[in-house]
Amino acid sequence: MKYDRILLISIDALSKKYEYLFEDYFTTKYDKYRSTATWTLPAHLNILCGIPFPKLFIVSRMKDYDKYKDYASNIPTIATLLRDFDFKSRAVTGGGFMSSFFGWGNDWDKWETTEDSRNEWCGEKILPKKNELLFLHTYYVHNWFHANAKMKEAFLETKNKLDAGLPIDQKKYRALLKEGEKEYAKRAAFLAKKLSWIKNINRHTLVILLSDHAELFFGVGSFHHGNLALKNKKIFYVPLLLKENTAQKTVVTDYMYDYLIPKLIFDKLELPFESVAKRVLRTNAELKNELAMIYHSRFWKLLAFLRKIKKNSLFFRWQSCRKQKLLANE
Ligand SMILES: [Zn+2]
Repeated sequence: MKYDRILLISIDALSKKYEYLFEDYFTTKYDKYRSTATWTLPAHLNILCGIPFPKLFIVSRMKDYDKYKDYASNIPTIATLLRDFDFKSRAVTGGGFMSSFFGWGNDWDKWETTEDSRNEWCGEKILPKKNELLFLHTYYVHNWFHANAKMKEAFLETKNKLDAGLPIDQKKYRALLKEGEKEYAKRAAFLAKKLSWIKNINRHTLVILLSDHAELFFGVGSFHHGNLALKNKKIFYVPLLLKENTAQKTVVTDYMYDYLIPKLIFDKLELPFESVAKRVLRTNAELKNELAMIYHSRFWKLLAFLRKIKKNSLFFRWQSCRKQKLLANE
């Protein structure tokens, strides 16, 4: 096998525009990589499960969260697929839509979130162990509006109004976009600098850096992500960078999508790939056969048991005794 460790990094809401900040640490760049979702939960389902979810409604109000409780726990992820090849799995995520509330981690050996550790992973060096998949996820760039209380207040007020279709203060809105993008770019640059350790990582580690969707600062109709950005295709333009066991730099110009990430990992590891969908179908068929075998053997066991009871019953003994007596009298 070419690699015995996998490091998968997801920088939430990082646009393709800022990919250049990270490029130096990697060997392969996918120029036409596209996300197929506009917000965190479905985008990561695509990335980690390898299934293109046609529609998963956008959750913008906290009271709607309950609808998606344990949602991800019903779908096996790449952790299940890699377990077949003796790989362990560990994740450190920013929580929120990546927390165990939504079912994440049910098939992982370890799923840590900000809620558990109180500190969000923000580019610090963490390496996968031998035969381990390590998934690191951060909201640091996504949370540009947390820069200060004033910006957070302006962002939430604007977002809530736009979500509800209410008029907004245009002057305030333009100022928010300008300041917001500046802060966002600053955060992307900070994270890129912190991730410089990737450059010297063990060559038997396959490193992948990507994002789940972009972040837009264009204006009304193309702002932020989720339901406020559905009409702008740039929301799907995100980075995909690989650090491979080669010194050669490559630019892949074929189209590539988020739900193909598990297959890409298996291909790079030179392992036979079976998609989650195929695996579910196969294991269901195997389970059906197993159950049939169990019922089949139980039926014969029951029949043998009934025969034994019949043979030992008082009525049967009395009847056979009577038969013998009758035969003796003849
Ligand atoms: Zn996201």
